[in-house]
Amino acid sequence: MADSLEWDVFVSAQIQAVVSDLPPGATEMRWSPISSTLISGERDAVLIDTAITVEQNLKLADWIAASGKNLTTIYATHGHGDHFFGVNTIRQRFPNARFVATREVIVAMQKQASDPVVNAYWKVRFPEQIDSTLVIADELKDGVIELEGKQLISVPLGHTDTDNTTCVHVPSISLVVAGDGAYNDVHLHLGESTTETRKEWIAALDTIESLKPSAVVAGHKRPGAPDTPNIIEETRKYIRDFDTAAAKTQTALELYRRMIELYPERLNPAVLWFSAQAIKPGH
Ligand SMILES: [Zn+2]
Repeated sequence: MADSLEWDVFVSAQIQAVVSDLPPGATEMRWSPISSTLISGERDAVLIDTAITVEQNLKLADWIAASGKNLTTIYATHGHGDHFFGVNTIRQRFPNARFVATREVIVAMQKQASDPVVNAYWKVRFPEQIDSTLVIADELKDGVIELEGKQLISVPLGHTDTDNTTCVHVPSISLVVAGDGAYNDVHLHLGESTTETRKEWIAALDTIESLKPSAVVAGHKRPGAPDTPNIIEETRKYIRDFDTAAAKTQTALELYRRMIELYPERLNPAVLWFSAQAIKPGH
């Protein structure tokens, strides 16, 4: 049994995504960097979220192997493919690792891993790079993963950047692995949101804050950015700024430009471009 758990984050670097619609002035889109968090005891470890492509996940598997820990469990915070398409690759190195998620996340995964979505969305963006075997999680029934006598608790967050998301709270080390409930210096994916569900996202951030974490890992973070709880308020502020800008602008382009003025340095403006167009379609 571990006296204390440890944690570490692997950030899969930005890779090119093939998209035809780019923001003004851009010549390519690179997918946001993706965080995978390894929580370890003395002997065993749990991985929260994978990356997208086989190549990314081979690097992630190497990193896990270098820890020397026995990977017992992979948990996916939500049903977007960029956080669970790597399970098959990881399991080739760690065949005994079980893969778990909440029931609602499993439903979302089944859609994301279905042929129509994989063919029309993921394979277009990442040709020849998506694993041919996409694994769907088993249900984490009681919402708790045990790791050497300590608890990793799945906390439902509702809508954040998609519906039915979760984070993982590890009370013994005051850690929240936020999944896409929080972003760290990367433009937020608001393309699935409405005015109502953006309020839900802000409430989800209030939930994370109420856990009083001393560290918060965002699902998408600038490599090297500190995992501080400040990102809770930074994410809330971005959503509020987006709402204000959406109310004051007419077209997707105006909304995009307003947000870029406010957030000139955040990674991946293409995501903001998709968010703006989703909120103001046809402009
Ligand atoms: Zn994501």
